[in-house]
Amino acid sequence: MSTKRVPLVHGPTPIVHRPALDELVGCEVWIKRDDATGGAEAGNKIRKLEFLLAEALYEKATVVVTCGGTQSNHARATALACASLGIKCALYLRQGDVEGAGPLTGNVLLDRLAGAEIRPITPAEYKDRARLLQRAAEELSRAGERPYVIPEGGSNGLGALGYVEAMREVRAQLDMGLCGPKSAGAFHAVAHACGSGGTAAGVALGAARFGVAKEAWAFAVCDDRAYFERTIGRIVAEARSLDPSLDAQATLVVDDRAKGPAYAATTEEQRSFIVRVARASGIVLDPVYTGKAMFGLAHAVARGAVPRGARVLFLHTGGLPGLLAQGHTFEGLL
Ligand SMILES: *Cc1c(COP(=O)(O)O)cnc(C)c1O
Repeated sequence: MSTKRVPLVHGPTPIVHRPALDELVGCEVWIKRDDATGGAEAGNKIRKLEFLLAEALYEKATVVVTCGGTQSNHARATALACASLGIKCALYLRQGDVEGAGPLTGNVLLDRLAGAEIRPITPAEYKDRARLLQRAAEELSRAGERPYVIPEGGSNGLGALGYVEAMREVRAQLDMGLCGPKSAGAFHAVAHACGSGGTAAGVALGAARFGVAKEAWAFAVCDDRAYFERTIGRIVAEARSLDPSLDAQATLVVDDRAKGPAYAATTEEQRSFIVRVARASGIVLDPVYTGKAMFGLAHAVARGAVPRGARVLFLHTGGLPGLLAQGHTFEGLL
């Protein structure tokens, strides 16, 4: 096991404050622009891939195998990063997440541009994804390849170290006075969307390690609270086995109230919120992850779970290609 990194993140990513957003959300929102970690590969997955692909290179992998939803940001970031490193990429993508999207839009267009091989699978097959990836790796090995398997979302202990590092980056930004006056202190909470749990695990460990925030709020966009508490707990344990100095953990709150009708599907109220945020602040959220997370944060403030006016760091984890694949769902709101 190697914990080296391959440089992929264009960092440190900026932290910005748009006062108009404070009014919409109800607390003091600072946005960590991890939607700007790179070019077409941007988003939170690049931070995990710095560690995961370093291990793939160390093991002299010839092909990376991973999985995700049809419009997976993780699959797209992996496809592009693999192309930049000269490694082949095979993507198992669950079909049928986004109704009405064209076949060559958003992330899928970028996957194909990067030359990744797309292997479509059904939602039923996706449920058994870990075994499916394992079997694919065995087949590739028999064919003379050296496969490296990355789990859904890049979410294992090694990938989570990317968000421990992100919290180190935030600590330095706090120390430099880039998140308001230093006298304002650290953040009350770090808030972000949660889809496979690796970001939450890294944030919970890193926020405690570097004194960034007391609470880590993970807004589920699928599954439920019990599932994510279990999954994040497992990833936290894996990360600690790689770096035993990660003993403390911020209070983890998994909030599944804003996940909407289904993964990648939103309510009209959530879509209107995304429109209001864009018009008030120039910050573009996506309907699959970040839009639901900030909507969830506003509701957490409204019901008093996050104190009104608290200083909150919102991780903008990216997802723009997913929005561009769902333009049709915004008809009538623009
Ligand atoms: C994957 C993703 C997330 C969720 O991160 P996980 O580590 O998978 O929980 C949040 N936002 C965006 C835009 C993503 O692509």
